Amino acid sequence: MRQKVIAGNWKMNLTSYEAAELIGNLKDKIVDPACQVVICVPSIYIMSAVSLLKDTPVKVGAQNMFYKDSGAYTGEISPQMLQSVGVSHVIVGHSERREYFGVTDEMVNLKIKKALEHSIIPIVCCGETQKTRDEGKTFDFIKGQLVAGLKGFSAEEVSGMIIAYEPIWAIGTGNVATSAQAQEVCAYIRKLFSDMYSEDVAEKVTILYGGSMNIKNAKELLAQPDIDGGLIGGASLRSEFADIVKLV
Ligand code: PEP
Repeated sequence: MRQKVIAGNWKMNLTSYEAAELIGNLKDKIVDPACQVVICVPSIYIMSAVSLLKDTPVKVGAQNMFYKDSGAYTGEISPQMLQSVGVSHVIVGHSERREYFGVTDEMVNLKIKKALEHSIIPIVCCGETQKTRDEGKTFDFIKGQLVAGLKGFSAEEVSGMIIAYEPIWAIGTGNVATSAQAQEVCAYIRKLFSDMYSEDVAEKVTILYGGSMNIKNAKELLAQPDIDGGLIGGASLRSEFADIVKLV
């Protein structure tokens, strides 16, 4: 049985006061979850989130990191730093990082490598634009991202990763993929892993759907056989996130 994961991506939102308030709310509502729960908070709130969520089942993740341990990289945050403050997961290759900050598949590969070196679980994002979907190239595009991003990793390493299928046209748009569309691509990704590695790896790897998931559509999406959970942006900023956790 694969572990189910519900991960929140706060992106660049909330003041420090609002962040503490939301964490307090989640702490009260997420007591004995049937899945792994992670909130990926802005880096400035990581340390306080780790401290506030100590001794709770909610883990704290980062939204990004550089692929060097230390050095003259002004403004960046290293995997070593994340590990030292108790971060368990890191989002790698989110489409917003790819679009606005020039993250490439090669950089995704380097970031995953570094995350694993520091025992941080990467949440590796992939997903197509509306144009790519309209052109009927979704599967090829996803395959290209995953083959390049995961180049050189062993079957064991891949088995422990989390892959998030996030169609770009569904992120932050309210335009959620239908459960059939999401399932179709998540099943494709699992089959791809079976071809690239083995059936065992495909059975073990965790595959999430992300893109306008909320309390209204989560139940159906989470019921799909190849969807092992969600990566949730907007709805993770509200106590609704805890209600989604309860659906698992
Ligand atoms: C995301 O940013 O990963 C995401 C899925 O955002 P939203 O849920 O707001 O679409």
